[in-house]
Amino acid sequence: MRTQRLIRVNVRCLLLAMGVLVAVAGLDTRLASAPAEPGGKPVKNIILMIGDGCGFPHLEAVSLYLHGEKGRLNVDQFPVKLGVRTYSFTGQGYDPAQAWANFEYVKKGATDSAAAATALATGIKTRNGYIAMDPDKVPVKTVLERAEELGRSTGVVTTVQFSHATPAAFLAHNPSRNEYEAIAQEMLLRSKADVIMGCGHPWYRSDGQRREAPGDYKYVGGEATWAALTAGKAGGDADGDGVDDPWTFIETRDAFRALATGDTPKRVCGVAQVSSTLQLGRPGDRKAAPFEVPLTEGVPTLADMVRGALNVLDNDPDGFVVMIEGGSIDGAGHGNLSGRLIEEGVDFLRAVDAVVEWVNRHSNWDETVLIITADHETGYLSGPGSGPESQPMWKPLVGNGVNKLPGMEWYSTSHTNSLVPLYARGRAAEALTKRVVGKDPVRGDYIDNTEVGKLIFELLQ
Ligand SMILES: [Zn+2]
Repeated sequence: MRTQRLIRVNVRCLLLAMGVLVAVAGLDTRLASAPAEPGGKPVKNIILMIGDGCGFPHLEAVSLYLHGEKGRLNVDQFPVKLGVRTYSFTGQGYDPAQAWANFEYVKKGATDSAAAATALATGIKTRNGYIAMDPDKVPVKTVLERAEELGRSTGVVTTVQFSHATPAAFLAHNPSRNEYEAIAQEMLLRSKADVIMGCGHPWYRSDGQRREAPGDYKYVGGEATWAALTAGKAGGDADGDGVDDPWTFIETRDAFRALATGDTPKRVCGVAQVSSTLQLGRPGDRKAAPFEVPLTEGVPTLADMVRGALNVLDNDPDGFVVMIEGGSIDGAGHGNLSGRLIEEGVDFLRAVDAVVEWVNRHSNWDETVLIITADHETGYLSGPGSGPESQPMWKPLVGNGVNKLPGMEWYSTSHTNSLVPLYARGRAAEALTKRVVGKDPVRGDYIDNTEVGKLIFELLQ
């Protein structure tokens, strides 16, 4: 690493010297406007959004619902659009020819969220279930930990329990994603993160009603950790001055929303007043049309959380790295819940809007990069009538008009090894197009999921 950096510094000196020469010759325009690439000035703000379980068809379904046609989402306008292969260390790889010749191919060898999030967070492939550890159970540094070393702010935001696999892989290290209590403790008590937001509130049910007695404390690090957190006494030294920086704890929707404007506390942990998910787990007909079952009141949307999180993170003049997860898209896929998939997709895309708005108002696309992707596909979503006996095997999703559930079918209740989409915009986003490893006959150019983590490391330097 050190040699690499030395070389990089030397290259920079050389470029600088060349720049001076070219400037003298009055031809400096090309150098001055050179696109931001790894090795150049660090990118100030890095925003990674992950739709858990969100494949290409999932976003098509949301576009058909919102706009009556495919390709009309905010992300469809992004300059960088790629596929991502997602298999884990023990996976079978991804063969595009097989994937589109054999209907069953992508059902085998799928990653789980822990290994996939580890790939995105650290740039290495690992075994399913591992949280930021390599296949030999050695902890691997995450992009958020690297950002903290460099004095940036960091955060994770999710619609599910904050100790769930995806956010966990950015701030904790554990050979088992199911060790929620230990993972939550590591995130809250030993990480240097500045924002942690999600669900897992022990005192609220899945419908957002307060319990008479507390439920499970494991998602928030156990009873003692919870008591300290809610008393404003939990949290280690986040800024390296030798003094503890306890979390400011918030839980009401109003408190999440209030965080979006004005001055904020230094470190904020927000646990919404609901058990496992913001909306997916609410009662009512789970097969109902989108938004037919009233949403749970009193909990924020992902966009509410994002606005608050960004307002906390941007207190740091050095910039920040944040991971924002639409965590319940996966659950809708597992349950083959088309209506709720649309709801979760809409919530995620509104959060994308909130990020874009923040960049336009408080930053710019020359210092900030936004990368939106998924960890894997869930539910093998396709059009009605697809299947190994069909001709063609994959039928398109069918629009039924704006605000109407599209024609869509699920062909699995598990994760698949399908490619997932990636959209990127802003500083150095184009660098991802230089990491293409193959061309899929349907999805086009694709990269490996580890390239996302590797690029973020390079952008941080
Ligand atoms: Zn899943």
